[in-house]
Amino acid sequence: MFALLDRLFLILIAISVIRSVIRFIRGFGSRTRMQTRLRMNYSAAGSGASPGATMLRQDPVCGTYVAIDASLKRIVNGQVVHFCSAECRDKFRV
Ligand SMILES: [Zn+2]
Repeated sequence: MFALLDRLFLILIAISVIRSVIRFIRGFGSRTRMQTRLRMNYSAAGSGASPGATMLRQDPVCGTYVAIDASLKRIVNGQVVHFCSAECRDKFRV
């Protein structure tokens, strides 16, 4: 009789342990999904086509908006022109 109760008790403990493990795994999964979504939103905002941000300049060759910090610069007629790559910079003709 007591042996049966002990076994039942052990089964209940095992079930609660398995449940908490499943909850932990699910919680971890949803957290990483949320981080991925946040990272996607961040990169979408960073590479957005909006020229409103003063930190972005349009590459006149390919039309890509490049960050001033990351762009290749060339002075044309006294104006600084920003390019996304050396290839675009070399292609550019005034
Ligand atoms: Zn370009």
